[in-house]
Amino acid sequence: MIYDASICELHGERMTRFPVPITWGHPTDWNYHPSAGRTLSEDELARFPHYLERVNGGCVKFRGMSDTADVYICPACVSAFQRLRK
Ligand SMILES: [Zn+2]
Repeated sequence: MIYDASICELHGERMTRFPVPITWGHPTDWNYHPSAGRTLSEDELARFPHYLERVNGGCVKFRGMSDTADVYICPACVSAFQRLRK
C-alpha cells in the first residue's frame, strides 16, 4: 500500500484538514488538553494520534504569521478523545 498522509494510521479513516490555533512560547505541559481540563497520559494520547487542539509554533511569534495551522484531523480520533473527556 502506498503511504497516504491523509489516512489515520491507527483507525484507517480518511482525515480532513482543519485549522487549529497555534500557541507560541514553551508550554510547560505538552499533554495538557484545555477542553479535557486535564493532562492526559501518554497511554491516553496514543488513542488519538490525529486529534489536536493546538499546534506549537515555536518560541516567538513574528508579525504576519498566522494564528492557525491546518492539520489533519481524524474523525475516529476525535471520537476517541471525546470518550476520554467523559
Ligand atoms: Zn484516527
